[in-house]
Amino acid sequence: MPASASASFPKLMIDLHTHTDRSDGTASPAQLVGDAMAMGLEALGITDHDTLDGYDTAAPLATEAGLELVCGIELSTRPDPPPDGSRPPSVHLLGYFLQAPAAPQFREWIRGHQESRRERNRKLIAKLNSLGVDISLEEVQALGKHLTGRPHFAKVLLRKGYVKTNQEAFDRYLADNASASVERDEPELVEGVRRIRDGGGLPSLAHPVRLPVRDRASLEALLGTLIDNGLQGIEVYHSEHSPEDTALYKELAAQFQLIETGGSDYHGDNKPSIRLGTGKGGNLHLHYSLLENMRRGVAEMTAR
Ligand code: AMP
Ligand code: ZN
Ligand code: FE
Ligand code: FE
Repeated sequence: MPASASASFPKLMIDLHTHTDRSDGTASPAQLVGDAMAMGLEALGITDHDTLDGYDTAAPLATEAGLELVCGIELSTRPDPPPDGSRPPSVHLLGYFLQAPAAPQFREWIRGHQESRRERNRKLIAKLNSLGVDISLEEVQALGKHLTGRPHFAKVLLRKGYVKTNQEAFDRYLADNASASVERDEPELVEGVRRIRDGGGLPSLAHPVRLPVRDRASLEALLGTLIDNGLQGIEVYHSEHSPEDTALYKELAAQFQLIETGGSDYHGDNKPSIRLGTGKGGNLHLHYSLLENMRRGVAEMTAR
């Protein structure tokens, strides 16, 4: 049992969805561990996009500080295209490696996706340049030092005055259907699920509120397919979920016997409205029992 949190703070609070500057967060792994300790978090899950570098760097620091650190990842994946053949927006998949960090073959597999990101970034610069936007890969990589993503492109567009807000950068240039959109070679959603399972992890469908499918029947069909491929969890608790969203995903978790997961999706200054541990405007309060349930759920599923 972990030690209790500081008296001024709800006891045994955790956050299992956070990003460091190894992907598109702004806090270094050391800063994030320090911030989690300072606010009295009992456990912290690092779930950087397509990389385990943030977790690997934070792990010894967390051990030293006495913080329980959960190894995680957030994969961008491609769902099946709709009947009209158009390109569907990517679906994010969380992987939690609760017993031990991910298996070596999983690490090898994600390295390929990091390369596809670099390739996408080169094409994105070329496309922006062809649209008369004068920015260079070097400028963007100076912000995204480890794994450059579109949020870093948005920051440079903002800084150089091409757009007035981060959202305008996405709407005009960077979103999947915007003028500079570049297709990236992403793994298929079901492959992502299988790879996380094979790597010893718990695959959980991230922030389902962002899925392109919204009606209940389509959600149920999607969950059925993903469960057939090894999905074990669903992110019921997330900063962007309204109370109604949370209630719906909780109901679906029970219906499909999926393990509930949750976290703020903290990105530091890149998403300033989201606070570590407490989400947007304090809409998140996750108790340590959520993590205990995840461990119990995985053990039960393995025993079945
Ligand atoms: P990347 O992983 O480099 O493709 O960038 C994906 C990130 O860009 C997401 O995690 C979001 O933070 C952000 N993003 C993607 N599409 C949009 C959008 N339409 N509006 C705002 N932010 C977006
Ligand atoms: Zn992100
Ligand atoms: Fe995400
Ligand atoms: Fe995230």
